[in-house]
Amino acid sequence: MSNYVAFLPMLVVAILFFFIIKSMKKAKRLKSKEFICGNCGYIGKTKKATKGSFWIELALWLFLILPGLIYSIWRITSRHFICPTCGSPELIPVDSPRGKKLIKEEFP
Ligand SMILES: [Zn+2]
Repeated sequence: MSNYVAFLPMLVVAILFFFIIKSMKKAKRLKSKEFICGNCGYIGKTKKATKGSFWIELALWLFLILPGLIYSIWRITSRHFICPTCGSPELIPVDSPRGKKLIKEEFP
């Protein structure tokens, strides 16, 4: 039984790291790209947005491990990029066919 108790926090940390690394790889790939905003027509780099609150996350971790872990995973996986001008999540890569079409429409 004591073996399982020692193993559990390690598993929790491993799961968390898996999601953090996965999310960081995605963020790195998207950060270097330029986007056009489908809402306001802004072209350039994006801004990162995380749902939820750091303080709720901290409180959940302090009380119980499992809700904290679930909340952390939800926050990490729901992290997304938004337009720095209008906050719209509708961002299209400038090198995609739809992005090129949008640029033509915005800047004829
Ligand atoms: Zn915008």
